[in-house]
Amino acid sequence: MSQHILIVGGGYVGLYTALRLQRKLAKELRSGEVRITIIDPQSYMTYQPFLPEAAAGNLSPRHLVAPLRRILPKVQILNGLVTKVNHAGHTVTFQPAEGAARDIAYDVIVMAAGSISRTLPIPGLTDIGIGFKTVGEAIALRNRVLHLLDVAESTDDLEVRRRALTFVVVGAGFAGVEALAELEDMAKDSTRYYRNLTPADVRWVLVEATDRVLPEVGPEMGKWTLEQLRERGIDVKLNTRLESCEGGHVVLSDGSEFEAETLVWTAGVKPSPVVADSDLPLDERGRLKATTKLTLAGTRDAFAAGDAAGVPDVTNPGQYCAPNAQHAVRQAKVLADNIIRYLRGQELVDYRHKYVGSVAGLGLHQGVANVYGVKLRGFPAWFMHRTYHLSRVPTLNRKVRVVVDWTLALFFKRETISLGEMEHPREGFRAAVKTMRR
Ligand SMILES: Cc1cc2nc3c(=O)[nH]c(=O)nc-3n(C[C@H](O)[C@H](O)[C@H](O)COP(=O)(O)OP(=O)(O)OC[C@H]3O[C@@H](n4cnc5c(N)ncnc54)[C@H](O)[C@@H]3O)c2cc1C
Repeated sequence: MSQHILIVGGGYVGLYTALRLQRKLAKELRSGEVRITIIDPQSYMTYQPFLPEAAAGNLSPRHLVAPLRRILPKVQILNGLVTKVNHAGHTVTFQPAEGAARDIAYDVIVMAAGSISRTLPIPGLTDIGIGFKTVGEAIALRNRVLHLLDVAESTDDLEVRRRALTFVVVGAGFAGVEALAELEDMAKDSTRYYRNLTPADVRWVLVEATDRVLPEVGPEMGKWTLEQLRERGIDVKLNTRLESCEGGHVVLSDGSEFEAETLVWTAGVKPSPVVADSDLPLDERGRLKATTKLTLAGTRDAFAAGDAAGVPDVTNPGQYCAPNAQHAVRQAKVLADNIIRYLRGQELVDYRHKYVGSVAGLGLHQGVANVYGVKLRGFPAWFMHRTYHLSRVPTLNRKVRVVVDWTLALFFKRETISLGEMEHPREGFRAAVKTMRR
């Protein structure tokens, strides 16, 4: 009888699990003994570490996504959301992009739905806040920053100008620091095309509730990063929380208040909501309760990894693997092998990986790294950041496109126009229709 492996989410874990299964179960897929399905709202996997470079205009947004149907020809890709998992009945409820929801049966499930922004009930956050997890958000932010430079240049109202030129990022982890550093670098670069703007007119505020930035690179390099950001004129506020931002009026716990048009929220992640809409075991932090073998506690045919799962770190007893790509990719490999072992009635193996440290880009030619205890800063770290991620971005096709983007950027200045109009493509046409009615 055919075994149906259903993968919920086509991001890091989903894509890499399916790739390995597609390769290792080629015979079974051909004979129909095994079927694999991925469900994801998008038809592509996003290489999230490149989002800051896309926001800065160094990479085309199309080049940091990997098309699932092209890479996984033996796998069925369904676009939509899994809204419920009924593991007792081995079915999920699938809500396609259009049309009625339906139940889909499976034999083995892989929960790879990742995470969403972890928000807090802060007044005004939904008014002006934006996350930084998707291509849409990265490109919208890029357009917004450039549009607001245009606004500031064109107004003679000082209040409007100051508000437009104030950008706030909340959360100084990977996503927050990289997004801020890349966007600040791009904005600084762009001001040279404006008659009435200098880099000093643009205010960047980084708000962090703890006493450090970029914990992923360790205390020493985190401290260095903090000094670098401050030297660049970025107002880094440690031990500070966002109290409210109603209508763009930002109030911080250190007592400061100011107006800002833009607030980027990167203060952590929480599991995708679908994990709560399931009968699968959860841990005290609402993550899927995984075992060291990447099965879910108390099950044999439900697997999970990545940001949505709490995976015990066997190299650091009592701790869990951090939600990052370094673990997600490696977990996917073990997860796929364990599914094959399960199907063949063999013993499953543990996931074991000791965190090796991290690299982060801080704008063009600037970076910080702490990998295997080797600490780098400035250009060498930036070079390492680029080469590492180039080696990791899926498929040769994407690697070539990324190199071409970077090479073009070497010879031509980066694009500094806002294409925010693309977010409202029908506005011009609607206005034309209105003039007809008059
Ligand atoms: C800006 C940024 C920079 C980063 N940089 C680094 C870095 O330099 N190094 C590093 O190690 N990590 C980095 N990370 C973290 C890394 O990208 C994540 O840890 C990794 O993507 C987790 O993989 P995942 O498969 O669990 O989730 P994802 O890759 O997010 O995939 C989850 C997928 O599930 C889908 N999905 C969600 N809900 C449902 C549902 N209900 N039904 C169906 N599908 C669903 C989503 O659409 C998505 O495609 C970065 C993250 C960000 C945001």
